[in-house]
Amino acid sequence: MSDETLEKMITDFLKLDMPVSSFAWQGGEPTLMGLDFYKKAVELQQAIGKNGQAVSNALQTNAVLLDANWCRFLSQYEWLVGISLDGPKHFHDHYRLDHAGNPTFDKVVSAIEKCRQHKVQFNVLVLLNDRNVTAPDELFDFFTGMNIRYLQFVPCVETGPSAGSVTDFSITPEQFGTFLCRIFDRWTEYGPEKLSIRILDSIMNYLVRGGHSNCSFGNSCNDYIVIEHNGDAFCCDFFVDENCKLGSILDTDIGELARGKTKRSFARQKSRISNKCLICRHNAICRGGCLKDRLILNDNNSDPSYFCQAYKQFFDHSLARLTQIAAKIAAK
Ligand code: SF4
Ligand code: SF4
Repeated sequence: MSDETLEKMITDFLKLDMPVSSFAWQGGEPTLMGLDFYKKAVELQQAIGKNGQAVSNALQTNAVLLDANWCRFLSQYEWLVGISLDGPKHFHDHYRLDHAGNPTFDKVVSAIEKCRQHKVQFNVLVLLNDRNVTAPDELFDFFTGMNIRYLQFVPCVETGPSAGSVTDFSITPEQFGTFLCRIFDRWTEYGPEKLSIRILDSIMNYLVRGGHSNCSFGNSCNDYIVIEHNGDAFCCDFFVDENCKLGSILDTDIGELARGKTKRSFARQKSRISNKCLICRHNAICRGGCLKDRLILNDNNSDPSYFCQAYKQFFDHSLARLTQIAAKIAAK
């Protein structure tokens, strides 16, 4: 991203004067931009922002390049860092090799240690693939053994080479449902106050406050926009294609792009749920799942989520207990 694009992005976004202006830096691998790029971003935020304007930054990274310099910076400006770690070494290193084909597990664990030393706030993002999804107990023991406090499980599913298929490394709805149920049981035994798991937090947020923190279960796809390195803006990071291109921030203000017709019509698509979802007992809490997951096997948004069966299994298994836990947390 050029200096000009960076400055335009920050100027436009801060001009919107939101209660908190949240920047989430993602790639590819965002640390490849180099630390100086992010130092410049913070300088611009400080120079352009109004007195007292709240700004937050988050970085989603494979953590391979995080060293002491990075950690000092992330800690100083209280960035929230999402670190990708897919479980114990034999799971993580199966898919996560560097460009030269070398394993990365040891570097990631070492980066987590550095984050701790420098008091960097971080959470761990676990991509659930065909291998680690079968081992919820091993994953739970591994992450709690590392004393991880914030976890996010992201189910991997990608359309396969032939119509109506998914790739070999994708997970099935049955696998995801079984995984979530087992993780939920372990979490309740372990102590909900000791470990935050994003999907559970989102559901409890819904139960207590009526709104999800995870857009997959929300009413519309309107939480954010994506800005690419060249200033092109898109509706969502799963829909970086011409149909969902909002325009360029170099030509048009971000506010105008975010209020524009393309964005509004994309946002509304999520609320057009399938007939199966309309009559589903979990409709209010699930809202048909992420739009991307509805289009995995069929390209016309007329199906429930690819993970429908997983969600039904999980909600049936957990909702009564989650409601009690959410009520206790809310009472505190
Ligand atoms: S497509 Fe999925 S990830 Fe993107 S905004 Fe909608 S729900 Fe969120
Ligand atoms: S559980 Fe399945 S049918 Fe029910 S709302 Fe979610 S995706 Fe739709």
